[in-house]
Amino acid sequence: MIKFLDLQKVTAKYADEIHEAVQRVVDSGWYLQGQENANFEKHYSEYIGTKYTVGVANGLDALIWILRGYLELGVMHPGDEVIVPANTYIATILAITENGLKPVLIEPNIDTYQIDDSLIEAAITPKTKAIMIVHLYGCCAYTDKIGEICKKYGLKLLEDNAQAHGCLYNGHRTGSLGDAAAHSFYPGKNLGALGDAGAVTTNDKDLADVIRALANYGSIRKYVFKYVGRNSRLDEIQAAVLDVKLKHLDEDNAIRKQNARYYIENIKHPDIVLPKVTNWDRHVFHIFSIRTSRRDELQAYLTENGIQTNIHYPIPPHKQECYKEWNNLSLPVTEKIHREELSLPMSPVLAEKEMDIVANIINHW
Ligand SMILES: *Cc1c(COP(=O)(O)O)cnc(C)c1O
Repeated sequence: MIKFLDLQKVTAKYADEIHEAVQRVVDSGWYLQGQENANFEKHYSEYIGTKYTVGVANGLDALIWILRGYLELGVMHPGDEVIVPANTYIATILAITENGLKPVLIEPNIDTYQIDDSLIEAAITPKTKAIMIVHLYGCCAYTDKIGEICKKYGLKLLEDNAQAHGCLYNGHRTGSLGDAAAHSFYPGKNLGALGDAGAVTTNDKDLADVIRALANYGSIRKYVFKYVGRNSRLDEIQAAVLDVKLKHLDEDNAIRKQNARYYIENIKHPDIVLPKVTNWDRHVFHIFSIRTSRRDELQAYLTENGIQTNIHYPIPPHKQECYKEWNNLSLPVTEKIHREELSLPMSPVLAEKEMDIVANIINHW
């Protein structure tokens, strides 16, 4: 069987370094808020190109803390609006509603699957405070036009960079393109921990300070609580593992790109739409997404032939039971993507012979 993602192999690739790092933390007797966090935060800031990284418990919390930080700083107020792509993963939307803010769902572009920047300006109201772009599937969602709109209307530009660690836009990393960015290090992400982990990157010292406090019970000094916070810290073992894997991220992303090229060059089927890549810097292929109107049929056929696939995602946020108030919204591009999307096996440990099998079986469909 060809797995969608073989995490055992992903970890085994750097097993010696990872074991050494974990052992070091185990033996140190120091498990939270120590040197490992400090090292990883420093290296991640250098890598992304921001002044600050704040390690937090997971990607959803990173998103939540950015918005909550702006609420605490008085930059945003309950009821304010955040523009966001309608086809994102639910976490982006949850972070907005959890903070008492209103997501304004914008359709994606059908070729890039990223927020359609031509639809943003018409959605801006006096309550709009931010545009949250999501580099979905590992593809850069930023455009110069989005940057210009943020400037023109005085909006914060926020990035959900959960799927695009290492992606570049004109030499700058995603995660450094706006005012603040959320990163998830869920094990299956391009930079994955061995459990839950996340981070916020920003150049805004005030925001970084508030988030560091919020994620540590709202504490600004030991036993002094300025905010009603939570416990949302990145632990030392995960920080140590991430520091090891960060060193190999570019190398792993280069393999993902090679794999994507292999699929694009070798899958030839009239009913299948392959990713349209116009700039290889701007995609790190967290997910290799194809589309077909006979998606469920193709998925069943691949399963029968021993190939695991996934759907990102089967139900869009506005059709979920938790958001009943939007169930009647009509977002045809988003709905089409959710009906037609299929994700093929993709990782830095996928072998060419496996991709060859996948391409052959698909071509015979
Ligand atoms: C994975 C993911 C998240 C959430 O990250 P967790 O670490 O799982 O909480 C948020 N947004 C997007 C787009 C994601 O893919």
